[in-house]
Amino acid sequence: MGLSTFIMKIVNSLKKESDDVKRRGSKDLIKEINEKLILKTIYEHKKIDRASIAKFTGLSPAAVTKITAELINKGMVLEAGSAESSGGRKPILLSLNPEFGQFLGVKIGVGYVELVITDFTSMIVESTRCETESSDPEVIVNVIKNCWDKCRRKKHARLLGIGVAVSGVVDSKEGIVRDSFLLGWRDVPIASLLKEVFKCEVLVMNDVDSFAMSHLWLGKAKDHSNTVVITLGVGIGGALIIDGKIHNAKGGVGEIGHMTVVKDGAKCTCGSNGCLEAEASFEALAKKISSITESKKLKELYKSVNQSESSEIEYLREALKRDRNAFNRVFEEYAVLVGIALKNIINMLAPDYLLIGGEALEFQEKFLNKAIQYARKNAFGKLGEKVMFNVDDLGEVAWNLGVIFVLMDNLFLTTSHNESR
Ligand SMILES: [Zn+2]
Repeated sequence: MGLSTFIMKIVNSLKKESDDVKRRGSKDLIKEINEKLILKTIYEHKKIDRASIAKFTGLSPAAVTKITAELINKGMVLEAGSAESSGGRKPILLSLNPEFGQFLGVKIGVGYVELVITDFTSMIVESTRCETESSDPEVIVNVIKNCWDKCRRKKHARLLGIGVAVSGVVDSKEGIVRDSFLLGWRDVPIASLLKEVFKCEVLVMNDVDSFAMSHLWLGKAKDHSNTVVITLGVGIGGALIIDGKIHNAKGGVGEIGHMTVVKDGAKCTCGSNGCLEAEASFEALAKKISSITESKKLKELYKSVNQSESSEIEYLREALKRDRNAFNRVFEEYAVLVGIALKNIINMLAPDYLLIGGEALEFQEKFLNKAIQYARKNAFGKLGEKVMFNVDDLGEVAWNLGVIFVLMDNLFLTTSHNESR
């Protein structure tokens, strides 16, 4: 054999090997895509028979039988009774196996962490709240670990992943909280800190984005192509969903709380002046009430505001009880500030659906209708008339469930990971 023939032989054999790898690579990818497609179809229908899976996915009945057998083997899917038959054998229904593993959703707030544990079907099995003494990331990670150890019921259940919801600018891809004014965090690699302790996948999201995703998966947002979420409370946040996806370029879209509503207004935590949050956060409302009230008790109580997030809402509850006039005056102004924000959102984004959430809903009778009327009346042209307004009906769990949905989708239901965020 001449040298050139020998070299050609090596080159050819290398080429064949690389083609095999490629072929196997694409075969694995197709298998993964089909598996996830089937899991997603089962998840969406809760219970579904094999023939219907074939119909919905476009896969052949033989492929569905083969793949579902593998999924049952892996423990991800189980047979869950049979459907009514239209003649002949009753078709067997498949569902996701709730026991396959658990997801942990964590909302990190000031002074507390809120935990939600779901099973593999994303049903909540446990939720709890633990206090934190400081916002130091290492302390928070410890509290999450202790809180998780205390509250999980099935000690042997496998932890499939952790979803974390944090306020501020979040780089989900890198798992880093870039800026959280509330927590005092800057470039905190919270995902890798948690990964070290829990040894599982971790996804970090902005908390309002997570809240919005809950409404996309469980609420009415899925019926609209363009949704804006605004949350009113201790802080003021926003999120934007376009065609089923959170729009979050650079991690900071929808910082509605930092739009200017008052020229030369109050100093904001972000360093600017007259931001909506500086003028209309719970703390700002408490301050305004304490400056106009004649109640000594309320003036006294104001000194303890700021010590924890809950102290602010407690102050507002007290103010409503002790000095209704002062409360009403401040909330009338609040209605206008929120109305201005809603009007600006409508003019800028013309959403089909505008969802309002947050702790301020406790006082919604005092401001919400007025704010919506203001926005509808003052928005450009007919834009204000066409928006559907709604208030959050999912409650506290919406803050950490959304990130679990996205994590579950990334890990088990959708192949194009990066597109989902
Ligand atoms: Zn600001």
